[in-house]
Amino acid sequence: MNYFIKTNRTFTTVRKYAWVVTLLVALGGLWQPRLGLIVIGIMAGLTITAFFTGRYWCGNFCPHGSLFDSIINPISQNKKIPKILKSKSFVSLFFIFFMFNFTRKLINVMRLWGSYQFIDRLGLIFVNTYLIVLIIGGALALLINSRTWCQFCPMGSLQKVSHKLGEYSGITKYTEKKVTIENTSKCHTCGKCSRVCPFQLTPYLEFDEHNQFNNINCIRCSTCVENCPANILSLQVEGNAKRIKENSATDGYENRRRILAIIKNIKDLKDDLKEFEFQFINPRNVQYKAGQFILIKIQDNPLQYRAYSISSNNRDDGTLKVIIKKVENGYGTNLIFKHNIGDEVVLEGPMGNELVVPEGAKKLLFISNGIGVTPFIGLVEESLDRDEIESIIFLNGQRFESDFIYNDQFKMMDLDNDKFKYMPITSRESNDIFLKGYVTDYLDDLDLSEYKVFMCGSKAMIEQSYHKLLFNGVNSKDIYFESEERINLSA
Ligand SMILES: Cc1cc2nc3c(=O)[nH]c(=O)nc-3n(C[C@H](O)[C@H](O)[C@H](O)COP(=O)(O)OP(=O)(O)OC[C@H]3O[C@@H](n4cnc5c(N)ncnc54)[C@H](O)[C@@H]3O)c2cc1C
Ligand code: SF4
Ligand code: SF4
Repeated sequence: MNYFIKTNRTFTTVRKYAWVVTLLVALGGLWQPRLGLIVIGIMAGLTITAFFTGRYWCGNFCPHGSLFDSIINPISQNKKIPKILKSKSFVSLFFIFFMFNFTRKLINVMRLWGSYQFIDRLGLIFVNTYLIVLIIGGALALLINSRTWCQFCPMGSLQKVSHKLGEYSGITKYTEKKVTIENTSKCHTCGKCSRVCPFQLTPYLEFDEHNQFNNINCIRCSTCVENCPANILSLQVEGNAKRIKENSATDGYENRRRILAIIKNIKDLKDDLKEFEFQFINPRNVQYKAGQFILIKIQDNPLQYRAYSISSNNRDDGTLKVIIKKVENGYGTNLIFKHNIGDEVVLEGPMGNELVVPEGAKKLLFISNGIGVTPFIGLVEESLDRDEIESIIFLNGQRFESDFIYNDQFKMMDLDNDKFKYMPITSRESNDIFLKGYVTDYLDDLDLSEYKVFMCGSKAMIEQSYHKLLFNGVNSKDIYFESEERINLSA
């Protein structure tokens, strides 16, 4: 089970294809040494950009970085980078060693100034340097982590020096974009920003008073931003960070607190699916709403929790249920599934308001697929208890009949309550018990005027449903959703 997660790190065309320059210089340069002169432009570029915005170059333009991320990362071992390679003494010694050799070679070539050979010999210095980085950096990328070389790359150190000068000048305050968190109380402390980080940094544990991540080694690659399940990270200059912090709404997060609980019951729903019931110990009572989620601590070092939708309706304030699907090679679920009844656990929450049904709502459409069904168990129960709610339709999509949970309970609630209509749908089963297809196939048939829509499930389902709902006349402010993936609503 690997702690670090491999994800796409190339979000722009430059980052996807800049590696071509590496091959052009390092290999093409062996035949045409003048190609090495391109590196002079690259060195100038990285030094200038670093003055204004730190190691931005490394994460966004560097041709070697592009090679490591685009080509080698998919086949890298993706292991922990040894501490020694990150240590200040090693990085400084390597920088001195590199600069000494580089300067020595330059002085030798300078003796040829004015001769026919000069340009080619100068180019060859850069070609050889590029080739060495390609071989050593490539091997380290393959065997350890794709950005191992970058921990002590002399060009990275050069950028740090340039950035320090930028800081002294005061300009970086206005030009340097840093990883910024909208609001720390919305952070799930899941550590995903750290697990996907090519430099294995820990932004979620280090935000400063302006909610910014001040780490000179951050290459501003946006991988954490793209992967944060809470969608609360962005790259911002200090002024914007302050504004975001001031304007951040915390509805649904204001009662977040640490809760000591014991596991009261564990129910096996399927081979890879368990329902955990927690009894609160300290405090004894916790107010939560159906549609919120709770964090379960999985480890202390580094501190990490996992988020789970609350599946129970808060009838007694003393207990809470979640349903957890064991992810193959999942780091957190493998730890949580080792727990037994009676074990003490630390929870944090309750959190979130995305799926909480607001006061005044009368007609509700619930849509889920896969494990996204879990919050709707509590939500249907709670909404049926509320007199002002006139109609609840629930579209529950699963692949096979065997994937349904709480199906009989939903059917019973449908039979017992005129205002509840349950629509189970399977995409891969052919029988008459279930509707066939995807939840999105049934949106056109519904009259959704005055309905508020709540969705939980896969990114694809939420994005497709959202557009269909808008097309069917539902107002965007009446559509609420939650997903562990980043949702993109642009058409
Ligand atoms: C608000 C919210 C509510 C949620 N509610 C529920 C719920 O009710 N029930 C539920 O079961 N889950 C829920 N989740 C998801 C849950 O928080 C966890 O993300 C989930 O349990 C997986 O955790 P994990 O640590 O086991 O998996 P991780 O180890 O974090 O793996 C997550 C994904 O990354 C992939 N991955 C892991 N390691 C690597 C690697 N080395 N290389 C490439 N890919 C990798 C895995 O295949 C998996 O797809 C919710 C999430 C959020 C944000
Ligand atoms: S902290 Fe984020 S932006 Fe910085 S290097 Fe890590 S993943 Fe990239
Ligand atoms: S990835 Fe997780 S830990 Fe990191 S900022 Fe987002 S919610 Fe917080």
